[in-house]
Amino acid sequence: MQVNNLINGQWVGADSGATFEVINPATDEVVARVPLGGSTETERAVSAAHDAWLKWRGTTANERASLIDKLAALMRRDADRLARLMTAEQGKPLAESRGEIAYAVSFLDWAAEEAKRIYGEIIPASAPNKRILVFRQPVGVCAIITPWNFPSAMITRKLGPALAAGCTVVIKPAEDTPLSAIALGELALEAGIPAGVVNIVTGDPRAIGGLLTSDQRVRKLSFTGSTEVGRLLMKQSSDNLLRLSMELGGHAPFIIFDDADMSRAAEAAMACKFRNAGQTCICANRFYVHESVHTDFVSRLSSAIGTLRVGDGTQEGVNVGPLINDEAITKVESHVADAREKGASVLVGGQRVRIKGLADRFYAPTLIDGMTADMRVHHEETFGPVAAVRSFRTEEEVVEWANSSQFGLAAYFFTQNASRLIRVAERLEYGIVGANDGGPSTVQAPFGGVKQSGFGREGGKYVMDEYTQLKYISWGV
Ligand code: ADP
Repeated sequence: MQVNNLINGQWVGADSGATFEVINPATDEVVARVPLGGSTETERAVSAAHDAWLKWRGTTANERASLIDKLAALMRRDADRLARLMTAEQGKPLAESRGEIAYAVSFLDWAAEEAKRIYGEIIPASAPNKRILVFRQPVGVCAIITPWNFPSAMITRKLGPALAAGCTVVIKPAEDTPLSAIALGELALEAGIPAGVVNIVTGDPRAIGGLLTSDQRVRKLSFTGSTEVGRLLMKQSSDNLLRLSMELGGHAPFIIFDDADMSRAAEAAMACKFRNAGQTCICANRFYVHESVHTDFVSRLSSAIGTLRVGDGTQEGVNVGPLINDEAITKVESHVADAREKGASVLVGGQRVRIKGLADRFYAPTLIDGMTADMRVHHEETFGPVAAVRSFRTEEEVVEWANSSQFGLAAYFFTQNASRLIRVAERLEYGIVGANDGGPSTVQAPFGGVKQSGFGREGGKYVMDEYTQLKYISWGV
């Protein structure tokens, strides 16, 4: 099956006719071929987005809201098909794909509402014969570059508010998962969103990213991906002074104090760690457990891990799918090997799971004890189903360890002590803190990081700042 790119309302291939394969990570089957586009195709998409913007920015909020609502309704109608497509290209269990489609739709629902609340202001002037009017206007053409771990939600989280604000977009999905993006493009056309407002290009990331950061008609780049690529794109964007939103890597500490509700903490730890086979930027990376509850926590986690089923995400009962590609599983292996070499003990898992008839990309949910600060699991994103535990003695010490990372996306801790809860939450240098909560992501909250995890906030009313700019009129009367 060949699937094309969306440029100016038309489905087109790369000029050269070249394509690349999208592989099902669980089975190694070729799911589809997509265009191997580059800068020429992207330039055309930017032109289309720019021309479309000149009209789109003049539409009313109600018109935009109603089109976004239609897109959301079509996603709901096709939720099952979209979820299956996502599992085929990304590997996550079907139940998680369904959950992601619902999550993706929630961003469109929210954006459709928010479109109607992009208010300006009138400021009292300093002269009696003047008035100051503040307008909030769309920034213009937005480039959207997204990762493979949430192939649909990471797009709608940017697309919804961009459209709501009156911006048009050029989307470059990840090479591993372009099909969910293209399916969204089909639904955008069906919803009646005008040609050129939503464009999608797939292909060579360097060439596409190079054009998106150098063409002066692009006014904003919203990126979710690795810190390394984020830095590169930020450098490339400097000549054009592009507005940026950067949602980059994370390395979440997950702290369990001696006064935690242990059953709640263990349950949250499991969901937070093993969702999407540990391939989320806010998943727990470092478990810090108070020494007095260490044995209890490790035994709870061991038994819970024992109930997980690894396999093809389309199979009933599977809750841990494959890793996205070969590099991903090699990285997980190297992190576990490094921890072993440096003295950690692997209590559960610690090796690949080979399943007859399936690809060799499954890794056993793993529990490592005795993590130390020099181990790679302690400071690099593992992006796999590996929980590593270190025990601590004091609050002071553990907060220092938690903050020792270059990243600052999400942090979690469990305590029943209200004073400690607020004290620790305030001291954690992270954009998102789950206090007795392992799943803080939700549409109405300002998702985003600090330090090397980036800047900009997605979600809630806050996201509209990312796609709008202020203009004031000083009006002599
Ligand atoms: P991950 O580790 O999640 O794969 P990446 O940062 O490599 O994170 O990828 C996130 C997105 O960034 C993907 O869509 C990828 O194609 C894109 N990307 C990677 N390198 C570049 C680049 N040089 N320019 C533009 N986009 C890039």
